[in-house]
Amino acid sequence: MEITTHISTTAQTASDKGLYLDYNATTPVDPQVYAAMEPYFKEYFGNPASVAHHWGWTAENAVQKARMQVASLIGAKSSEITFTASATESNNWVIFGLLSKLREENPNQPIHFITSCLEHSSVLKAMQAVEKQGVEVDFLPVNKFGQVEIETLRQALKPHTKLISLIWVNNEVGSINPISEIAKLVKEKQILLHTDATQAIGKIPVNVTDMGIDLMSFSAHKFYGPKGSAALFIRGKDPKVQINPLIYGGGQEKGLRSGTLNVPAIVGLGAAAEICKMNLESEAARMTSLRNLFWQKLQAAIPGIRLNGHATERSPINLNVTLPGIKIESLAAKIQKLGVSMGSACSSGSVSISHVLKGIGVTPEEASCTLRLSLGRWTNEDDIQRAVDILRGAIPTENV
Ligand code: PMP
Repeated sequence: MEITTHISTTAQTASDKGLYLDYNATTPVDPQVYAAMEPYFKEYFGNPASVAHHWGWTAENAVQKARMQVASLIGAKSSEITFTASATESNNWVIFGLLSKLREENPNQPIHFITSCLEHSSVLKAMQAVEKQGVEVDFLPVNKFGQVEIETLRQALKPHTKLISLIWVNNEVGSINPISEIAKLVKEKQILLHTDATQAIGKIPVNVTDMGIDLMSFSAHKFYGPKGSAALFIRGKDPKVQINPLIYGGGQEKGLRSGTLNVPAIVGLGAAAEICKMNLESEAARMTSLRNLFWQKLQAAIPGIRLNGHATERSPINLNVTLPGIKIESLAAKIQKLGVSMGSACSSGSVSISHVLKGIGVTPEEASCTLRLSLGRWTNEDDIQRAVDILRGAIPTENV
């Protein structure tokens, strides 16, 4: 199915039931993406690995089309895209797959990896695991906005540094890391640069070729594609990056990632990528001005409200705010209709302060007064006003 219109006009993100403002956690599937996927559950159900009949060929063609759509969004070649089931998998794969490759080449070489203390847990925990396997790992501190400083990185480099893995756009506080500058710093050195771009894709321009990125993880459900569908970009040339598989089996994806391909989900990833590419500039501008409007209105309505993360070098869709003295839990009943996140959605359920807020110096007391609000494709000015009204109405009058 061809993608015909740019942005679909329907989505169930605002209704009497409530207002969804948690697009950093996940997004609804765009109706056009859903329509593109549907036939691949039914009439085109073939296995792309079936080379002897048209069911297989149809599925294989759909997968190749999706690979092109994804590659085109990030300035890569189709051959550099491998499909995975989550950004969590892609991140783990980079770290364990590279370690395995390096050990295979030379079991005795010293290995140093660099990451930051503000990564998603799928990078942090994988790095902690390889540390236990003898890799020297530096978890770099960040500045007060949640960004890695170039100088901090420069000083951490060692002759045996093999990998730098840094998040591009932080999922909690929205800060953007200077990935292009970091790429320039490591160019000519024998160090691979991996970025977790899960919150960057479809929000800010991403071009792996121009920017000199070697490996990049991202996931469809953050940009209006289905859950359980993701990819890893692996640079094919200058340098040709080689990592060992994480999953072995039937040899799908050129032997790099075995398992029967989830064709409908891959088709959805491709369609979502195409829609993002068509609308990137206009949506980034619209989101940025909506986010700025939201912040102005929040400041006017709630005295003392503070923004976490960088004021301008931040995700166009994210506001992370602290309401000093106002415990978010105490507002829970009154803000039920607001789909927002307290701390990181990925670690919600845990009572401890998120490592991201801790990393930028937010105290546990402040963290309990902190809220993440994130906007999306169907958020409009009326929604912003409604959210401000709900929040203001929930706050005890002595605080407003
Ligand atoms: N990295 C970042 C920055 C994320 O925001 C997320 C999702 N919260 C992930 C990785 C994990 O993505 P997935 O849900 O596809 O495993």
